[in-house]
Amino acid sequence: MYLSKTPSIIYKFYNSKDMWRVETEDKDIFLTFDDGPIPQVTPWVLNLLDSYNAKATFFCVGDNIRKNYDIYCDLLLRGHTVGNHTFNHLNGWKSNTREYVLNVKKAGNYINSPLFRPPYGKISVAEHKFLKKHYKLVYWTVISGDFDKTITPEKCLENALSATEKGSIVVFHDSLKAEKNLVYALPAFLEHFSKQGYRFKAIPMHQKEIKHPLQ
Ligand SMILES: [Zn+2]
Repeated sequence: MYLSKTPSIIYKFYNSKDMWRVETEDKDIFLTFDDGPIPQVTPWVLNLLDSYNAKATFFCVGDNIRKNYDIYCDLLLRGHTVGNHTFNHLNGWKSNTREYVLNVKKAGNYINSPLFRPPYGKISVAEHKFLKKHYKLVYWTVISGDFDKTITPEKCLENALSATEKGSIVVFHDSLKAEKNLVYALPAFLEHFSKQGYRFKAIPMHQKEIKHPLQ
């Protein structure tokens, strides 16, 4: 169960240093893509983003970078930013802290970034306490639900359009599971907000307070 738009009470419940949205008066949207890079979807996303002069942030799975290093380099060269999403897409609630942290560290050998997003948004108190010393934890304002096979592509688009506003961090996935909804929703999403004068920006990797990503 998930909500398209994260209620603001959640921001207060979690550590306030975590990022749930970007405070801005500009018409900026922060697209994020989780779980890649993979050859079947990521290059398509990159070409589409280029056609809108859009930048985004990719929360990569370390093992996918190991397998598809050329695509990873390509997305960096095109000016997007990246974040750590563990090496094996671990669920923090089902992993012990040591295993989880070592998996993040292993991904850090491939991903040089101070940004981290826990897979499924699930992370234990102990894991969170440790990782926040090394990373800026980035969650989201809007979940498109592209990964959800029980919703139609039209519903996925509606979720994303209705919940997004300036400063929103929006989650899509460059994954096989999300492909069907993504290929429908992402072009329409970009078109809709571009026409309204919004710009798509990457979350900066220069986070002042974070000096030592795990590597
Ligand atoms: Zn994920």
